[in-house]
Amino acid sequence: MVKQHPEILQYEAQFEQLIANNLKHVVGSVGSKTTISPSDTTLFDIPLVVHVVHDYGAEFLADDDIYEAVKYWAVVFMGANSDTSGVIAPFKKYIGNARIRLHLATIDPSGHPTKGVVRHRSYLTSNADDQAKLEQWPQNKYINVWFIRQFGASAAGAAAYAIYPSSAAMDPASDGVICLYNYLNYDKCVPHELGHVLNLQHVWGNNNSPGTACGDDHVDDTPPTMGHSPSGCTASAIYDATCAGSYLKHYTNISGADSIEDYPDTTNAQNIMDYTYCQEMFTKGQCVRMRTALTSATAGRNNLYSAGNLAATGATAPMPDLPPVAEYSVERALGGGTATDSRCYFLTFNNVGSFVFANRSWNDTITSVKWTFSNGASTPTASSMSSVTNKFSVPGWVTVNQTATSNAGTNTYVNARAVYAADTAVAGGYGYAQNFSTLASVSNWPMFNFFENQYKWNYYTGASADGDNGCVMYRSFDTTAKITATPAGDHDDFYTPAFDLSGITGNFYMNFNTSAARTSGSGLGWGTTIVTDSLEIDATTSGGVRWTKIGGISGSSLSNAGTINTEFKPTSASQWVSRSINIPAAYRTGNTFFRFRYWPGNAGNNFYMDNLHLMPFAAAVNELSLDGSSFGIYPNPASNQFSIVYTAGTEGFARLSIKDLTGRVVYDSKKNCTPGTQVQELLDRSIVPYAGLYLVTLIVDGHVSTQKLVVY
Ligand SMILES: [Zn+2]
Repeated sequence: MVKQHPEILQYEAQFEQLIANNLKHVVGSVGSKTTISPSDTTLFDIPLVVHVVHDYGAEFLADDDIYEAVKYWAVVFMGANSDTSGVIAPFKKYIGNARIRLHLATIDPSGHPTKGVVRHRSYLTSNADDQAKLEQWPQNKYINVWFIRQFGASAAGAAAYAIYPSSAAMDPASDGVICLYNYLNYDKCVPHELGHVLNLQHVWGNNNSPGTACGDDHVDDTPPTMGHSPSGCTASAIYDATCAGSYLKHYTNISGADSIEDYPDTTNAQNIMDYTYCQEMFTKGQCVRMRTALTSATAGRNNLYSAGNLAATGATAPMPDLPPVAEYSVERALGGGTATDSRCYFLTFNNVGSFVFANRSWNDTITSVKWTFSNGASTPTASSMSSVTNKFSVPGWVTVNQTATSNAGTNTYVNARAVYAADTAVAGGYGYAQNFSTLASVSNWPMFNFFENQYKWNYYTGASADGDNGCVMYRSFDTTAKITATPAGDHDDFYTPAFDLSGITGNFYMNFNTSAARTSGSGLGWGTTIVTDSLEIDATTSGGVRWTKIGGISGSSLSNAGTINTEFKPTSASQWVSRSINIPAAYRTGNTFFRFRYWPGNAGNNFYMDNLHLMPFAAAVNELSLDGSSFGIYPNPASNQFSIVYTAGTEGFARLSIKDLTGRVVYDSKKNCTPGTQVQELLDRSIVPYAGLYLVTLIVDGHVSTQKLVVY
């Protein structure tokens, strides 16, 4: 950050000056002092907000555990934590009291009552760095503390981190503490980070590498030290004189008198700003440093405890009794064998497996939860407080209506697209073609946007591989990633209807066209690695209980149109490519579904998909018709030669004609072929001289069928 904003160093220099001035009023006779300063007994009240960034894992911390933890952090900042009794004798007289009272806010930034805890469902809980600091409350009014499941690469190995006021002044959106959920109340993890928020360095100095070199933290009563690793809570660490021998400081007090303070000749390994797990104290000097940060306007710290802000945030008011927030999560499918996905949103209707809905209501002690479900489901009893399982006898989108009740009121959550009960009626099989010509064509191809964000599947009008102006699109272009969050870690699903593939032997392919680009991925913020988009194709023969990956496309292979830094849309046929996936024999059942799962990356741009066929030939080679009612054109779009592939009928007579859009016949051929054989007619580009759309008509045994050919 200093590299990006050299002004940070100026802020820090100003801070050191301020701290030195404040200490002058303090040190007259440091050793005999029992308080920081008789003139500095002001209590600072500070509003906090705790954000739970989660995906319904263990990181979905319970309200009561959060309230409990905040109470303990507050005790530490009043120097009242009982474990200071374990501080070794030489440091007892340096134990400080920061006189800071921490409070969960009772009024949110919009002026609504709150208990000071908010929850955000996000994939960023597992890929977290600064971008997981979601929906920050104004950092000059509240100290924000976020809990997550796991850090991303830029903070891998950390339990938590925070930034100094000097850095926060330059980058307010990063201000606050971000912490692994299991460190909520583990040792002094959060008080340590709040120490950084209030300008404390580690006792060994301004780096994250304890045990490497003697260092100092610009605080006199924490002797120089190398610092200790988390496992370093041993007698040899607690009495560690490596850097602290003969540690004296000379002071001139405000009236000019000299004094010498002989500080302990051993390290303060029990300091909250060391990395040991026997953190028990802040020193008096550290308290001066923290209180100085609070009296400074840098990063707005001096606004936190202003009378106006305390009124606006309700920081000193008691926690209000508020109605609950009704919420549930969709869990792994039950029954029908072991489900492969941790969350199951798609099952066939009446599936032997069941959907599982887990109650996640929060914000008050819940006394009852009522559920109602659409699609012919049973209504569970009102005692279904933890989770309910259900199956649906009517296919389609399922509406879940959940009401949570506490002593303070009720809250209802209605989701009309909670899960999807798929029809088992088959859409087709051998020879199936889906051109995505109209919105209605995807009416039984459900799309899920799991994190309800801009990265999602859509039906799209305005581009196509086959000239009908319709296709399916995944919007991965991330204009706002620079400000909010990289989508890397997100994923969204697009499901097919059921197909009957029973009895099909030999090679059998799912063929489709795709068109995609990527961005250069620059400017995504510090510490961000480039993650490219990928498409995963899965199949199920258990109606959605178990899925197996049968193919995938990623990286530069996926982004065939190359690097484009504006929102991508294919504008020419040459930007489409053919894809083929051989469907493994195990997935050729009477009821096979496919799933397209898109994983957007932080260098993503839009992905388009069109023209899906189930055929015994791979798209890049050729395609087969069944009986003249369908046939293949490959490649399509075409730029040079192209093939028309079909099976000769029982009469052995075939007529092939190609017309341009004005209706002019540009090609007409009649052929006698061996009945029942596969026929491939290789045609030259000169037949279709102009780029654009042509109509190809094949007549076999009196069956007439027409397909579009795109030429570029
Ligand atoms: Zn630290």
